[in-house]
Amino acid sequence: MKSRLSPAVNKIAPSGIRKFFDIAAKMQDVISLGVGEPDFVTPWTIRESCVYGLERGYTSYTANRGMLELREEIAAHLMRRFNLAADAEREILVTVGVSEALDVALRAVVSPGDEVLIPEPCYVSYAACTTLAGGVPVPVAAKIENEFRITPAELEPYVTDKTKVLLIGYPNNPTGATMPKEYLAALADFAKHHDLIVISDEIYGDLTYGGEHTCFAALPDMKERTILLNGFSKAYAMTGWRIGYAVGNEDIIAAMTKIHQYTMLCAPITAQIAAVEALKRGEKYKDKMVAEYDRRRRLIYDGFTKMGVECFEPKGAFYIFPHIASVGMDDNKFAEDLLRTEHVALVPGSAFGKSGKGYVRCSYATAIDKISEALNRIENFLQKRKP
Ligand code: PLP
Repeated sequence: MKSRLSPAVNKIAPSGIRKFFDIAAKMQDVISLGVGEPDFVTPWTIRESCVYGLERGYTSYTANRGMLELREEIAAHLMRRFNLAADAEREILVTVGVSEALDVALRAVVSPGDEVLIPEPCYVSYAACTTLAGGVPVPVAAKIENEFRITPAELEPYVTDKTKVLLIGYPNNPTGATMPKEYLAALADFAKHHDLIVISDEIYGDLTYGGEHTCFAALPDMKERTILLNGFSKAYAMTGWRIGYAVGNEDIIAAMTKIHQYTMLCAPITAQIAAVEALKRGEKYKDKMVAEYDRRRRLIYDGFTKMGVECFEPKGAFYIFPHIASVGMDDNKFAEDLLRTEHVALVPGSAFGKSGKGYVRCSYATAIDKISEALNRIENFLQKRKP
């Protein structure tokens, strides 16, 4: 049967993240640092707005692009936060999470054989969605020595006459890297020079520790060539609601809307009502969650550093990416043995591209006492294996 499936589907592998959860699900007493999901429940005011919406009978489809009220709130938020002007009627599309926005963005701009530059390690969907859109993912390794940031000099050797898109995601999953404004400005010049479209996944833009996030589309001259992706899953603890959005040039958004119209129709109305509330009144709850992630971030970073594992201090998102090869371990074996013997689940870095090999991803979106206990178990595991 495999030969009868689409070649693009045959080319992609199942996500390397899920395999470990399937093993963990059958075990008792597992502490999971695996899932990239807030351990908080969506703040009550957001849940309540949805309950009231249902009570009032809001159960229908919405406009394909999403409720105008939500698009206006998104536009107001972008103006407040980044001084970025976006037309709610023409330049914003509400989607079923950033997942859909990413897929639709790639399908809207990639022609068969077009190459997409993707700094790695990166979120598992970037290469897979590029392949499904008929494009060719071109991974470019970001290095720990450079705090997992990417520079034009590193990207330049991979540019060909087929390069069409640069796909970036900062703050980064899985490394926790952020890109200061001057680094993004250098990428902006690079994109202009090679006439690239930039897809910028900023889903972790609100989760930074100590440095403000710069929105790529808000850099000079970048709005026209950037498709900004963002959503509510991480910052507002809303993963299950499935709601996000894309912002960009009106022709690109119109093209994306066509695909969205025929495949998704619209994002769920319940989630759209909740998203309006998140933008109107969710800020203070978000800030509290970010402060708690910061506490956990410091604990886990200190923990790995004290164990002698080389570790980059993450500045954003809620992941840490210890270099497990620095204590002589293979990432897949480490993750598997740790799960089986100490009951701690994390994800091998190889799941995030070849350049993630030798690292493991730990999510610190987990209660602080569980993180402490997981660190004890990891230390115990490493002690037993000391030569
Ligand atoms: N982009 C990145 C970098 C992510 O880490 C994730 C989820 O883990 C997504 C996008 C998907 O987000 P959503 O829940 O909005 O589909």
